[in-house]
Order: sequence, then C-alpha cells, then structure tokens
Amino acid sequence: MTTIMPIRCAKNLCGDNNSNEMGQYCFDDKEFGSIIISTRRGMKNIRSCVRNGMIELHVPAGINYTELCRIIDGNRAQLRQMIARNEKIKLRYHDGQEIECLGGYKIIIGLQQLFPGRAVFGYEGEKKFSVKIYRDMDFNNENVITLISRSLKLLAKRIATSTVIELAEKTSIEVGIKPTRFVIGSGLRKLGHCTPTGEIQLSSNLMFLPMHLAKFVILHELAHLTHFNHSPQFHALLNRYCSGNEKKFDAELKHFCWPI
Ligand SMILES: [Zn+2]
Repeated sequence: MTTIMPIRCAKNLCGDNNSNEMGQYCFDDKEFGSIIISTRRGMKNIRSCVRNGMIELHVPAGINYTELCRIIDGNRAQLRQMIARNEKIKLRYHDGQEIECLGGYKIIIGLQQLFPGRAVFGYEGEKKFSVKIYRDMDFNNENVITLISRSLKLLAKRIATSTVIELAEKTSIEVGIKPTRFVIGSGLRKLGHCTPTGEIQLSSNLMFLPMHLAKFVILHELAHLTHFNHSPQFHALLNRYCSGNEKKFDAELKHFCWPI
C-alpha cells in the first residue's frame, strides 16, 4: 500500500529546524506552475528534478517560504534548462512524419528494409529529403530517437550552408549591416555567435526554425556588430530591427519545440 503524503501549500513552511518529518509542499510559481517541494532533514544541498512534467525540489528541512522564493528565483536559468532537457527526452517521431525546414525544405521520417540497425538518408525529390530507420526499429526506443535526431541534424547541416547563408545575407542587406563573413556551425545551445573581427557564425540547426525566428537569431548577431554586449542600447537596436517584436520573438524562441 502506498501512503500519499498530504501536500500543503509552501506558504506553510515554518522554518522549524527540529521537525523530524519529511514534508511535501506545493509552490505556485508564476513561470513554472506548480513546483513540488520535498523537505528532508540533514540535507545539505538542494536537488532538483523534473517528474511528470513538474519540477521537484528537494530542500533541507527548516527552510522558510522567503528562503524558498529566493532559491527558486536564483535558479531560474538552470530550472529552465532542466525543463528543456526533459522535453527533449519526450521527443517522439513516427513513420510518415514530415518536418518542415527553412527555405521550403521538408524531411520525411520513414522506414527502410535494407540496412538493419541503421538510419539512412534519402532524396525524395525537389527540396524533399528523408531519414529512414530499419523497419523493425521502435520509434519509442530512446536510442532510436537519438539516432533519428542525430540524422536530422546531419542532414540539416548539408542543406544549411546555402539556405541559412542566403537568408543571412538577405537580412544583412535589409538592415544595412555587413559582417566580414557568415559561417555555418552546429550547436543547439548556441544558435549564433559573433566574433570581435565581425564574423558571424550561425548554427545549421536554424534549419528547423520557422523563417521569422531564424531571422531573429540572425538579427541578434547583426545587432552585436554595433553593440558587442547585451546593453539596453543593444536591445533597442534589435527591437528596431525586428519591428518592435523582440520580446515576442524571444519568448517564442525560448519555448520553441525543436524536432531534434
Ligand atoms: Zn547576444
């Protein structure tokens, strides 16, 4: 039999260090929704994990509500990253799935029966490519998901050079700022990068973004050619470049559900 511990509101955390009990509390957060707080006696460090799409924090017993708020506020960036990683695990593919890419490209996920244990690339016609896994492979298996994801990234890299650079050059002309050159790199954490010599590196994974978000990443880097920092002046310029949509696009990019 399982005992379900009563979940109290985190506002009831009293900060009583002598409490022997392990307690569970619910914290209502404006950004993350409900956070489950577990208190444990004798704990020194704070641990966090994501379970069933919800953040769980394990904190030492004796903590009070104000301290808890401070911990959550001070760790927002890490908590966000943790959720993003967790969402990646939930990534799923299926036979016949079509992934829309920049420049009107499409990648179709499918099955093949020639190469056991492998994912193979295919050309399916103009601007259409495929990633096909062996017919007996399970789309729900984590290794298969990783294999498809990796294959998609490799394929995007092949298509990216002309597509992303073309968009970057067009965008650069639109705002009248020219870098020394554009180069393609990979990486999902870092979508763009600008060097002090005026070179802009863009990730081949921009291929998976809708046009306006890929352009937003490019505009961000172009704005760095004027302001090599994230100062208010930088944001004002970037906001002007994207017609007052900086905040909107930034939020969209943060919550974008990557197919890789
Ligand atoms: Zn930046």
